[in-house]
Amino acid sequence: MHQSLNFYIDGQWVDPVSPQRHQVINPATEAPIGEINLGNAQDVDIAVRAAKKAFDSFSQTSREERIDLLERLIEAYKVRRNDLAKVITEEMGAPSHLAANLHAMIGQLHLKTALQVLKTYSFEHERGGHKVELEPIGVCALITPWNWPINQIAAKVSPAIACGCTMVLKPSEVSPFSATIWAEVMDAAGVPAGVFNMVHGLGPVVGAALSSHPDVDMVSFTGSTGAGIEVARNAAPTIKRVHTELGGKSANIVLPDADLEKAVSGGIRGVMANSGQSCNAPTRMLVPADRMDEAIAVARDIASQITVGDPTQDPDIGPVASKAQFDKIQGLIEKGVAEGATLVAGGPGRPEGIDKGYFVQPTVFANVRNDMTIAREEIFGPVVSIIPYKDIDEAIAIANDSPYGLAGYIQGEDAETIARVARRLRVGQVLINQPRPDPMAPFGGYKQSGNGREWGDHGFEAFLEVKAVLGAPAPAAAGEGGEAKQA
Ligand code: NAD
Repeated sequence: MHQSLNFYIDGQWVDPVSPQRHQVINPATEAPIGEINLGNAQDVDIAVRAAKKAFDSFSQTSREERIDLLERLIEAYKVRRNDLAKVITEEMGAPSHLAANLHAMIGQLHLKTALQVLKTYSFEHERGGHKVELEPIGVCALITPWNWPINQIAAKVSPAIACGCTMVLKPSEVSPFSATIWAEVMDAAGVPAGVFNMVHGLGPVVGAALSSHPDVDMVSFTGSTGAGIEVARNAAPTIKRVHTELGGKSANIVLPDADLEKAVSGGIRGVMANSGQSCNAPTRMLVPADRMDEAIAVARDIASQITVGDPTQDPDIGPVASKAQFDKIQGLIEKGVAEGATLVAGGPGRPEGIDKGYFVQPTVFANVRNDMTIAREEIFGPVVSIIPYKDIDEAIAIANDSPYGLAGYIQGEDAETIARVARRLRVGQVLINQPRPDPMAPFGGYKQSGNGREWGDHGFEAFLEVKAVLGAPAPAAAGEGGEAKQA
């Protein structure tokens, strides 16, 4: 059994102010795997004070000192990668291969990306006759979800450290043990006391206290659009900066000249990975109306090949992360049937032969209309909606007819058509013909998928304030009693 009863504050593992135990459930077995203590507003206050105290010195560290720190973090992270993979499988149900090769790998990738960007990032610019300095924004509240638990922690902590910010992390209460290992990595790497702090707890308590705390300068939030709205509302009275990475309902446009079999099978597998629990999953597959039957045949075949089961035995997909998610997904699948979509594979209920755990059948609906609930709401499960379109203009209109705008996928051959479609998609990231992910490519959404970007050099912007300096006297030349400022 895992236990994570203390919070990491000011370089120490400290007792909560009012301990309140909370059991964490293994979604594959529905059995408890350990417990955490939930924090409250007083714990948050103590952590924010530690971060504020540490900011004075950490914000003044040199680029070289922070490069050195990130290098130490990468080494400390490598030591714990296997532990992270194992615990991620237990707490959120990712199959072992996915947990090791992606979930745990990606934390290292974010640290390395931040290191690479930091080496050459320009924190100072000349504008006309004056200088613009990009300075660390201050104390950051980092609030993260459970679906890619280490990815999202690392995507925030790595650039925050690189930029010289201090921070308080509130990880998801569904996946807290991977976050505790992350905090142990920070400790082992010798991150100065107070720079990184972590308080476990519930969103409406710890997350809300962080969002409204007057000494928090910015909140970086990843999660559902509803919770993101709450964070922005709680942050508004103190005008803190709010960076959000929210939900998605991404369209995958299969153009008429695409290799249909490759496009449909890749699209189905792309949604099913991680049990459909990816904000950028291509959940609305748009196919030419006259090829719907072909697409259905391919989709049915691929869905039937996807294995579901005990994540430690390496199936294609494990369970979804919690009972709340399981119930929500089942409700939406039933809604799809009730609204008249054609059920091509899967459906309500657990997969055959499984009577325990939050396992969902890989489900494909076809002949979906874009106004059906399954095409509008983020399901966050292994469910694909195939939607027919008449011509490319209609495909673009359907793709953009969503409150979300996170990613857009295009499958096809003709470069000009692809470029035209890509230009018209109202999304933060366009992925053409299933490219490999690129850590330097900015990640984030238009519309209700959030604001701001993570990854690469764009990922630094949320953690920096802009200061214009006008009229500064030129530094005295060396040898005339002055010291040149270190850039
Ligand atoms: P969630 O919104 O329930 O929770 C996310 C985090 O916010 C958790 O730590 C939670 O405790 C906290 N939280 C909840 N209510 C809060 C409140 N009122 N104030 C402050 N914090 C609060 O989301 P989830 O179920 O953990 O994650 C799934 C969601 O995350 C999906 O909607 C998914 O699309 C989204 N997501 C988006 C991205 C992206 O980059 N755009 C990436 C991953 C996940």
